[in-house]
Amino acid sequence: MEKQGKRRRRVVLVPAPFQGHINPMLQLGSILHSNGFSITVVHAQYNSPNPSIHPDFSFLPLPDTSSDHNILAGDLIAFVLQLNTNCKARLQECFAQVMRQQGPDDGIACVVHDEIMYFSEAAAKDLKLPSIVLRTASAATFLARNALINLKAEGHIPFPESRSLDSVPELIPIRFKDLPLPIFGKLEDTLQLVSKVANIRTSLAIIYNTIDCLENSSLAKLQQQCQVPSFPIGPMHSFAPASSTSLLEEDNSCLAWLDQQSCNSVIYVSLGSIAFMDVKQVVEMAWGLVNSQQPFLWVVRPGSIRGAEWIEILSKNLKESISERGYIVKWAPQKEVLAHSAVGGFLSHCGWNSTLESICEGVPMICRPSFEDQRVNARYVSHVWNVGLELESELERGEIERVVRRLMVDEEGKDMRKRGKNLKERIELCIKEGGSSNNSLNKLIEMIVSI
Ligand code: UDP
Repeated sequence: MEKQGKRRRRVVLVPAPFQGHINPMLQLGSILHSNGFSITVVHAQYNSPNPSIHPDFSFLPLPDTSSDHNILAGDLIAFVLQLNTNCKARLQECFAQVMRQQGPDDGIACVVHDEIMYFSEAAAKDLKLPSIVLRTASAATFLARNALINLKAEGHIPFPESRSLDSVPELIPIRFKDLPLPIFGKLEDTLQLVSKVANIRTSLAIIYNTIDCLENSSLAKLQQQCQVPSFPIGPMHSFAPASSTSLLEEDNSCLAWLDQQSCNSVIYVSLGSIAFMDVKQVVEMAWGLVNSQQPFLWVVRPGSIRGAEWIEILSKNLKESISERGYIVKWAPQKEVLAHSAVGGFLSHCGWNSTLESICEGVPMICRPSFEDQRVNARYVSHVWNVGLELESELERGEIERVVRRLMVDEEGKDMRKRGKNLKERIELCIKEGGSSNNSLNKLIEMIVSI
């Protein structure tokens, strides 16, 4: 009875306001809820999650004073720094509000915050609340981020173009061009965020949305750099009861379209929730896909083409060619798409969620990273796990056509699909009872219960 009372205690989640961060945090909330915890989500107003999709959770908005301006200008790092500076007092008020409302079995067991919402750690500590960090990117990305500070101190970054293909000795197979650097914004801001995030002071543990069989050696190195226990419990979307965490409305009509395509024939194309493209790049992408002669499902997020609302900028001729073998949606139910038997490849920006979702379904990838951790993930997909091809040149129709055919038609792609299937099976073992992620999750729950 005593134990049951404790297991009903409350966990307060503080996600960062981006789709790729909200998804794993809400998945963690679902996992903890199905293990007997009550969940409160304290969230920024920008990109706020939809409470009606999670009727079992409580939601508390965090009025932030930062404008959306920096996001629109693409300066995400400046936005995150500003959020951290502005919101500590308000977050404490939210924690205090939850504490005032708590019943005898409903005290706050702990706060779990996204690592980039680092102000949460101090806000929790001031109220004597235990906190745990959630890292939503790959372990390899954290190693690479931590290395940035030394590389800067030693004068290696910014690096000249002539060094871009050189390996970074302590991060092989990462090259200088793969380092998790932003394309917009100041290097100093990135380094400031990296050092804040690396400096864990009072948090009890770190949760990783990754899998031992994928990142065993990176996780071991990270454990040496950090004193607190870590819990690699990925892929969290596999543990979380299926419910959508999308901020945009998913267009399910693409599933019916996929039903009409043959097995492994479709290349799915999506560059995630943040990346932008120029009109010229979109036109090249469109012709490359059309000319590849493969069926394709393409997510074009409204507002993701600079200077356009959506695909109105494509010519009539191009739109007609697309409609012969392609299907365009504004936002897809991505996990279901990747699990569909018709999908045989994923042209992706290699955000960590997309990478995990693809690998977990055994779908090989064409890696088209833009910035930050996407480059690290792309390198691991193509050179460590060997389940993807890198598209490194400028987006050009001939190159896109070739790389799509390499993956979807050539022997090279078939071999990759076999390796992908093999990796999928190994991941399934990690999720099952007795597997590494399953064990980690049990230990995490035991730890929270014992707080
Ligand atoms: N996603 C989706 N529908 C889409 C495109 C993306 O549901 O049409 C989801 C995808 O499944 C993933 C998330 O959005 O969970 C994107 O996160 P990721 O880390 O891959 O990239 P980011 O958007 O952060 O760059």
